Amino acid sequence: MNTKIFDMVTELIKNCRLPHAILIDSGNADDRDELALYIASAFLCQSDVPCGMCKDCLKLKNGTHPDVIIFDPEDKKEKTFKVDFVREIRADSYILPNEAKCKVYILKNTDKMNASAQNAFLKTLEEPPSHARFILLCESRAALLETIMSRVTPFNLGADDHRITDEYALKADELAEKLAVALTEVTELNFMRLSSAFEKDKDLFSVTLTSLQLIFRDAVAVNAGSNITLSHHEDTAKRLAAKFPLKTLIALVENTEHLFDCINKNANKNLLTTRFCSILRNTAYGG
Ligand SMILES: [Zn+2]
Repeated sequence: MNTKIFDMVTELIKNCRLPHAILIDSGNADDRDELALYIASAFLCQSDVPCGMCKDCLKLKNGTHPDVIIFDPEDKKEKTFKVDFVREIRADSYILPNEAKCKVYILKNTDKMNASAQNAFLKTLEEPPSHARFILLCESRAALLETIMSRVTPFNLGADDHRITDEYALKADELAEKLAVALTEVTELNFMRLSSAFEKDKDLFSVTLTSLQLIFRDAVAVNAGSNITLSHHEDTAKRLAAKFPLKTLIALVENTEHLFDCINKNANKNLLTTRFCSILRNTAYGG
């Protein structure tokens, strides 16, 4: 299991910053489920951090909590996540919770929604009932519309999780920090040099990009006046926040999304590296 993501989520829980709509993708299905249940317990638990002992935690653990709705089209022997299912979920989300402070929807295989199902779901994400929480699970975010992605906070469990050791994650995290620093430099030499590591290793790209996106998110938070950072690279986030206007920082977060798409769709590693450099440099410096 990707412990780094768990730590990151725990940090959000402790700071009461858990977003109302979350996407968990990549990794394997068991790990996605485990993280989704952990987040659900954080939403429901009567303590600040999931205690595992209160009425809500116990019911969740036993799979009997009436305010946790787990939906998987495969349970209905359907290959796609149909627009009808989305409408049912939307209608249900307006009904008040039975006993907990909120209702948690864990939706699996959301990448099996076609465009019309996603557009129907978008309405719910745009104006969610105040008691509703959504946790979307899927193998790959590449199939999701940008409008959906802009409404959820994504957690990538890693492209090929079993291969990602702590050492590997640390290497990627360090590389992400160096890239973020290099992005603040006007000449692009260092940024290009560091990016060349991806040419040989596509997995490294995906793990590094996850860390880099978190640093960008932190920079957005810092720029907007928050003291809480999640990436463990507070100084770098502050450096970015001082260098770029908020608009640019938000664009950097959004454009790293495009790059996740590229990883999933594009097998050409050299092209990927080139695209990475041009997208992020152009976002930062125009062009
Ligand atoms: Zn509890």
